[in-house]
Amino acid sequence: MSTYWCEWAWLGSPDGSMESGVLLNVVGDRIVTVTPGCVVLPAGAVRLPGVTIPGMVNGHSHAFHRALRGRTHGERGTFWTWREQMYTLAERLDPDTYQALATAAFAEMVLSGFTCVGEFHYLHHDRGGVGYSDPNEMSSALINAAAVAGIRITLLDTCYLQSGLAPNAELHSTQRRFSDGNAQQWAERVDALGVESPTVRIGAAIHSVRSVNGSGIATVAEWSARNAAPIHAHVSEQPAENEQCLAVLGVTPTELLHREGALGTRFTAVHATHLTANDHALYAQTASTACICPTTERDLADGIGPTTQLRSDGVPITIGTDSHAAIDPFEELRAIELNQRLKTLTRGTHQPGELLAVATSNGADSLGWPDAGRLAPGALADFTTVSLDSVRLAGADPALLTAALVFAASASDVHHVVVGGKAIVADGIHQTIDVPRSLSKSIGALWA
Ligand SMILES: [Zn+2]
Repeated sequence: MSTYWCEWAWLGSPDGSMESGVLLNVVGDRIVTVTPGCVVLPAGAVRLPGVTIPGMVNGHSHAFHRALRGRTHGERGTFWTWREQMYTLAERLDPDTYQALATAAFAEMVLSGFTCVGEFHYLHHDRGGVGYSDPNEMSSALINAAAVAGIRITLLDTCYLQSGLAPNAELHSTQRRFSDGNAQQWAERVDALGVESPTVRIGAAIHSVRSVNGSGIATVAEWSARNAAPIHAHVSEQPAENEQCLAVLGVTPTELLHREGALGTRFTAVHATHLTANDHALYAQTASTACICPTTERDLADGIGPTTQLRSDGVPITIGTDSHAAIDPFEELRAIELNQRLKTLTRGTHQPGELLAVATSNGADSLGWPDAGRLAPGALADFTTVSLDSVRLAGADPALLTAALVFAASASDVHHVVVGGKAIVADGIHQTIDVPRSLSKSIGALWA
């Protein structure tokens, strides 16, 4: 058994209030007891100064996009021209370079306080769409990368079959690497993966309504139902997607996904930026989730997601770092609230305690880990400690620590991260990986 003494800890209170002197007893990968109010540090306990919160969950990631950071933001361009740059990178990856890059990107996530990632994975095959001898070699590279980096993963294996909504839209040469040919073959490949473990779960994803037609969506939804697995999809990130879907099929992307059986408690709409009133009603009725990725959405000029409406409808919200323009959970969280302030001229839609739930329990539920994202007996021992010693947080009011974290902390303030009972980050240092060096080496090799 390991014992941790937390100077302060957030035990899930919706009003954001913190407990002081919290003892966490951990056996194996689980928390067994949580005891607040312990003034004296017990002998042998690991002291965690600062604020300890449940491990944060990165609900939406494409690991390889990390190699685009700093290379794609300065020009005018659009989402669509950014996508061409992303395809150039995708064309260069193979299982070895992908694993090296993903290991470094996942390690950066743990350093930033994330303990779990939803990897939305669509780069399945070799160049030209030729299958590797093991058709799941790229999936395995990501799962191996997560294990080396020390992060829990839900591999959201993504179905991607066509290049657009127009009938017979030919796949771009890079897009051929994403396609399994048809949805049934996608399902057979995912069934063959079969690698779930204490730190790995497999979920499904529909890349978007542009990339999978109605019957394909139904097949992916059936796979998710059969396996009781999460199902995610990019939805209405750009107005053009809505316009094309309405023009070709006469329904919105959300309506199409609902008609084919995708929406429900296991479904997460990623972005959900441009929704109609009926789209909102469908998410509320089906108890679906929405994953907001503010740093990516602002970088790509997508727009500001309707989180005020989602919140009032009771639709759970999660966060994702998506394109990894930044990997900083605090930056994503405060952007949810601050974007609404700019949009609505009103402060305080999303309260700090509620935003911590967005980053923790909501994210864990969305990725199929209902026993993570909580500091509670029986929960997985995933937690993150934020130091209060930095220039950003020094002098924080002990009665307002949650607000200080959400509105003033940065990823650099994360000092200790435990995943499945193992200390992956201690004193701000990843225990097994030189993360800047790994990023530099793996990204440099791709652009050489
Ligand atoms: Zn994405």
